Amino acid sequence: MPLQQTVEASPEVLRVKDVWKTYHGGHQAVRGISLTIRRGECLGLVGESGSGKSTLARCLLTLERMDRGEIWLNGRPLHNLKPAELRQARREMQVVFQNPAASFNSKLTILDSLLEPIRAQRKGCPGFLGNPGANERAIAGALLAKVHLPASYLNRYPSELSGGQKQRAAIARAISVEPSLIVLDEPTASLDVSIQARVLNLLKDLQEELGLSYLFISHDLSAVNFMSHRLMVMQYGQMVDHCEGKDLFAVERHSYTKQLLKLFTAN
Ligand code: ADP
Ligand code: MG
Repeated sequence: MPLQQTVEASPEVLRVKDVWKTYHGGHQAVRGISLTIRRGECLGLVGESGSGKSTLARCLLTLERMDRGEIWLNGRPLHNLKPAELRQARREMQVVFQNPAASFNSKLTILDSLLEPIRAQRKGCPGFLGNPGANERAIAGALLAKVHLPASYLNRYPSELSGGQKQRAAIARAISVEPSLIVLDEPTASLDVSIQARVLNLLKDLQEELGLSYLFISHDLSAVNFMSHRLMVMQYGQMVDHCEGKDLFAVERHSYTKQLLKLFTAN
């Protein structure tokens, strides 16, 4: 069955309904956004810098308090949970940020960084590695292998890895707890152009292999188009356009989307 059909038939992982976020000083960064993501689906979120993409991501990761709105994860209302329940529920979401250096503690080896979520959640070997009895080092090594890094990197510190390698390690850590959703906030924006495509291919391969659900945020239209089953376009905190992946370049679009496309193809 084609992937698109499989995704349409799969259960809803995330439902976001009418989310609003105002910062101190009155700036409305997110204005009435609603979206859904199904299991195995990649929803692309595109928009210029400052359009509210990261704010929306932080709201749905519950890292930011929203003014109002509803966030349902696997049918559970995150906006209504008590703090202890929320702590547990938010573990079902992982995030990969733009700057891989900031997502690692410089004093921890890659081994300890990789194992942080597994230890925090008292989880064992992820099911997809197929080795339930594996010890911590074997688990971490197998996770690195999933992102095409050698096990010898386990003893290294983040400063001893390139940007692309750190981002691969961040992806290995994100998948380690088999999350329901991974938010990718400009995951390749800080990498050399030659490395970007390889990291995108890795993310896509992992998604197909493990049935992952992604919210993929980028201002790079071709990256979003490559990755996503569906796209949303944000401008000034609002969703101004949405389409199926292949339609972005093909059909009549919202004037802002066209403007983005023009900007993008001019670069
Ligand atoms: P994007 O990720 O699309 O670049 P952001 O969500 O980072 O957009 O920012 C949306 C708007 O909110 C911008 O105008 C930005 O300056 C503002 N903003 C972001 N974070 C904060 C904050 N912590 N306090 C106040 N304003 C913020
Ligand atoms: Mg951002």
